[in-house]
Amino acid sequence: MSGILVVAEQLDGELCDVSGELIGAANAIKTGVGGPLQVLVIGKTAKDLAAKVNLDGVDEILTVQTESDHFDPLVYEEIICKAGSDARPSVILIGHTASGLAYGAAVSARLGSGFASDVFILSMDGDELVATRSAYGNKLEMELGFSGKGVVLLTLRGATFVPPETEGSAKITPVEVDLAALEGLSTHVEYQEAPPSDIDIAKADFILSVGRGIQDKDNLPRFSSLANKLGATFGCSRPIVDSGWLPKPHQVGQSGKVASNCQLYFALGISGAVQHLFGMKHVDTIIAVNTDPGAPIFNVATYGTTVDLFELTDALERHFN
Ligand SMILES: Cc1cc2nc3c(=O)[nH]c(=O)nc-3n(C[C@H](O)[C@H](O)[C@H](O)COP(=O)(O)OP(=O)(O)OC[C@H]3O[C@@H](n4cnc5c(N)ncnc54)[C@H](O)[C@@H]3O)c2cc1C
Repeated sequence: MSGILVVAEQLDGELCDVSGELIGAANAIKTGVGGPLQVLVIGKTAKDLAAKVNLDGVDEILTVQTESDHFDPLVYEEIICKAGSDARPSVILIGHTASGLAYGAAVSARLGSGFASDVFILSMDGDELVATRSAYGNKLEMELGFSGKGVVLLTLRGATFVPPETEGSAKITPVEVDLAALEGLSTHVEYQEAPPSDIDIAKADFILSVGRGIQDKDNLPRFSSLANKLGATFGCSRPIVDSGWLPKPHQVGQSGKVASNCQLYFALGISGAVQHLFGMKHVDTIIAVNTDPGAPIFNVATYGTTVDLFELTDALERHFN
């Protein structure tokens, strides 16, 4: 066994960003792993999508045409197991996404592979693959090895690895997989678009986030307007979303979005629970405003102040008005 198999992800015929990121991650370990880098594209439009994953470092693109572009985890599981046994890669990379999570563990169980999810660093220790993920509510980072495993399947965190910038010259190979055994096992009912949002926490480089410390929904416009004036993306902690004050795309944290590209994070009235820190503690510069000097947010803050957040906001508003 040798080589890497990347499973491209698409949503209703559109290639997802994570596909290029998986290829970027694969390139970083390709020499150490040895063998070819293959990308598997599944869907009705697989041949069209192949051109979009023909990126630097890719040796071969395997296309499997299916009747529909609608995601079906059983179809992905079957095809990857077939491709996994034919191509015999030693590493399979899929996105740590709603789709990837729907089939990743099942594929791993069928192949008897090593497995790790939500991996955010990939490296080689000699000829051994090392995957880094967090544990215990993000309090620890674990480096995992997979000795004795012929094949390892990893789900990689999105917006973390850098996609190749240049095109590749991979050969494209159509592959037939018999899916007859899956007939009648699942039915596609409907595809529902998520409500549109112009907020992208994962891509923002400057985020101003508010937490329960802002006390009331009526206070929100002050902070969203301040974020706007400062040129920051407006984020929040989970209680703000759970109370229905802001929609989900604004939420930073474990069950929200990770601020992957953020350089400056301004936290107003956020205590710093581990689930919130999961989404932002890695940011270069964190400025925390919290009246409680013992708030855990100060453990990760670069700069912190215990002034009242409304007092500070008044001062900033006076300056920027
Ligand atoms: C499975 C699971 C997933 C979760 N996922 C997430 C997630 O993705 N994101 C997330 O954020 N949370 C998440 N949580 C919730 C998390 O545990 C915390 O409950 C939440 O982060 C707390 O939000 P907060 O800091 O806004 O509120 P609080 O903890 O209530 O903190 C408010 C802070 O504001 C300060 N404050 C009050 N008034 C002022 C003032 N006038 N000036 C300055 N400071 C003031 C207080 O001192 C306090 O520290 C999750 C929880 C679970 C169980």
